[in-house]
Amino acid sequence: MALHGTKELNSQLAGITSKSAFLEKPIPKYRFPKGEIDSAAAYQLVHDELLLDGNARQNLATFCQTWVEPEVRQLMNECVDKNLVDKDEYPQTAELESRCVHMLADLWNAPDAANAVGCSTTGSSEAAILGGLALKWKWREKRQRDGKPFDRPNLICGPAQICWHKFARYFDVELRQIPCEGSRVLMSADEVIKRCDENTIAVVPTLGVTFTLQYEPVHKIALALNDLEEEFGLDVPLHIDAASGGFVAPFLHPDVLWDFRISRVKSINASGHKFGLAPLGCGWIVWREAHDLPEDLVFRVKYLGGSMPTFALNFSRPGGQVASQYYNFIRLGREGYAKILQSCEEVGAWFGDQLAKTGLFQIVYDGRGGVPGCCWKILDETETRFTLYDLADRLRVRGWQVPAYPLPAGCSDVVVQRILARLGLSRDLAGMLFEDLLRAIKHFEAHPSDKSLSRQEAGGYHHR
Ligand SMILES: *Cc1c(COP(=O)(O)O)cnc(C)c1O
Repeated sequence: MALHGTKELNSQLAGITSKSAFLEKPIPKYRFPKGEIDSAAAYQLVHDELLLDGNARQNLATFCQTWVEPEVRQLMNECVDKNLVDKDEYPQTAELESRCVHMLADLWNAPDAANAVGCSTTGSSEAAILGGLALKWKWREKRQRDGKPFDRPNLICGPAQICWHKFARYFDVELRQIPCEGSRVLMSADEVIKRCDENTIAVVPTLGVTFTLQYEPVHKIALALNDLEEEFGLDVPLHIDAASGGFVAPFLHPDVLWDFRISRVKSINASGHKFGLAPLGCGWIVWREAHDLPEDLVFRVKYLGGSMPTFALNFSRPGGQVASQYYNFIRLGREGYAKILQSCEEVGAWFGDQLAKTGLFQIVYDGRGGVPGCCWKILDETETRFTLYDLADRLRVRGWQVPAYPLPAGCSDVVVQRILARLGLSRDLAGMLFEDLLRAIKHFEAHPSDKSLSRQEAGGYHHR
């Protein structure tokens, strides 16, 4: 009995010491390791290393979802071995993807949602590039048909997200970006029309501009483009970058006209992993009608004995994001999404109101009418003992990531700061952030900043 006990103890101790080996020496960092280590020890090491990342929930810079239901984690886990690209092997995952496309076409008021075409992507960036390619192809086909040159395509946008700069550079399209001017950050119909010509493949308004969270005036632009067509015969299509707004406007602002209700809108992209509430790695693009997606961009893959069209820049990726997106759609429905977005909107607007009450800030976006959150600048830089970069830096002490950054070209002397109010930023958490912000201001009253901190030094996240 005693002998048996000792043996057992010894083997237990051996287990403990082999697992605690990771405590004693640093792990390899730049050379491929020679030997193996215990799985639990390796896990612990990697787990510990990740502690040094910022806390995603406190990252108020990102539009991306940082809180998901346990069921979503479970589905992600169940799909970790399913390759979304193998439509033949995993036909049911393919089916869920296709259902999501039709549900989105319905949500965005496509004329015939059951026959709309689209696909999932890794995010809005891939979706935007696919949308841009389709527009470039359609424009080129028409130019060829008319016997006109097709070597100088251009695309018109406002303060666009980096994906449009990528699209333009990678696919040789001139980006005609409308600079900000005075208090106008968004594109205006006049500024759009000035830039249109026969080489314009599309105008791309953003629903939820990265810098200030506001919607660009899609309907006004569409009306101006109608006039342009009537007068000069130029038929310029619209693609909407609704990365965040595509999952906000249908629930909070159903009367805002921005989607397929406008016939000039040919395609829409959105990020499932932003207000679509899917986990990271999920985006969507939907075309108004099948003929808006040129046939020669589409590849056919084997699927349940037949073939299925695919259009993507990536190949293999897991099916979990799509399964989780479908889960969210059936779990929440329009009512569930509306409830969640309303509380996000309230939190963003509440935060803006509190900031305004300090008398130190001017609210650039008050959280109403666009994407949930708010955006502000310092009312009078000569009155404060800090810059927004200082404030962002000080908030990092408590783990909050609240970026400060200059507005885009044309207004880049204006520095703003913003938060996104996502699912997971409760009114309570937002209250704690606000208290920390007041504490930070007090800190600068006692220790005035020399205001030399630059954007790079303030660190944190920027979107460019
Ligand atoms: C986030 C965002 C993108 C890029 O989307 P990802 O899903 O991160 O690839 C593009 N456009 C806008 C307006 C965005 O907000």
